[in-house]
Amino acid sequence: MADGNAECNIKVLCRFRPLNESEIIRGDKFIPIFQGEDTVIFGTRPYVFDKVFPTNSTQEQVYNTCAKQIVKDVLGGYNGTIFAYGQTSSGKTHTMEGNLHDPQGMGIIPRIAEDIFEHIFAMDENWSFTSRLVSWRVVSYFEIYMDKIRDLLDVTKTNLSVHEDRYRVPYVKGCTERFVTSPEEVMDVIDEGKANRHVAVTNMNEHSSRSHSIFLLNIKQENVETEQKLSGKLYLVDLAGSEKVSKTGAEGAVLDEAKNINRSLSALGNVISALAEGTKSHVPYRDSKMTRILQDSLGGNCRTTMFICCSPSSYNDVETKSTLMFGQRAK
Ligand code: ADP
Ligand code: MG
Repeated sequence: MADGNAECNIKVLCRFRPLNESEIIRGDKFIPIFQGEDTVIFGTRPYVFDKVFPTNSTQEQVYNTCAKQIVKDVLGGYNGTIFAYGQTSSGKTHTMEGNLHDPQGMGIIPRIAEDIFEHIFAMDENWSFTSRLVSWRVVSYFEIYMDKIRDLLDVTKTNLSVHEDRYRVPYVKGCTERFVTSPEEVMDVIDEGKANRHVAVTNMNEHSSRSHSIFLLNIKQENVETEQKLSGKLYLVDLAGSEKVSKTGAEGAVLDEAKNINRSLSALGNVISALAEGTKSHVPYRDSKMTRILQDSLGGNCRTTMFICCSPSSYNDVETKSTLMFGQRAK
């Protein structure tokens, strides 16, 4: 997990959730065997990642090992992206958000919010009189469903488009931006977005498994005396469920959704593996809306972390293998 080296800027971390109650009642077997810090044996073969988190890993351990450094980097002017990939119910939302209002259960996003403000408050104290550093922290929250971008902080914006600014940096045009001044305000924004999401759909569980939700944290700093500017952006992405729908069962709208998700996840996989390979000159960012939006926050000097979320159950073993393989492509 070296730092400062472009080739090492994509980290792939694998996390297994515990068996849940219904899996235990059904008598499912617990398949993974954890070896050392970075290896899991699943079925017939080992899979090696930058780090493997066994089922008993805490939210705090996950955060400290992976995301903490990203906070420092974003404050230092780097961009970054953290994804959670996996089938529905594999622990993506648990990892990214967790329980927003419980200190132990909090996932990565609320911990980042706390950490960022801790740093900013410390900087403000040290610098405000001497070098006159001012900073803005802006957040946005939107989802991509069937290739449409919907603002989760303004329900009237249901089909936003991706534009490029004058520096050719892509952004979601017209997306609500909220200024935040404390971690509590970040949590309020997330709660508001989630409430909006609930209102708009009949079955939240189904909906969240079929859309990508993206939380953007943008930190801008300026030294008023030197006019030196520093800007860092962090995308936090809870991806749509990666499960394949059964070829016979699905038709109509469900099949369209499934094809759409498949296409956008493989576009992401192609971008990540092109970046990981490092030798390819062409990175196919333009193949999906999501990869277009993330273009300046993936690869290169950016900090990219991919969480590969897995079920340990024998019942899901085909999906879990395909999830593990997706993660291996990025290595
Ligand atoms: P996804 O977002 O991938 O569909 P969730 O994060 O909602 O999945 O997880 C499904 C269920 O499993 C939730 O009830 C969640 O609390 C639980 N869960 C997920 N990961 C863990 C974990 N590492 N430890 C304990 N419970 C977990
Ligand atoms: Mg989820």
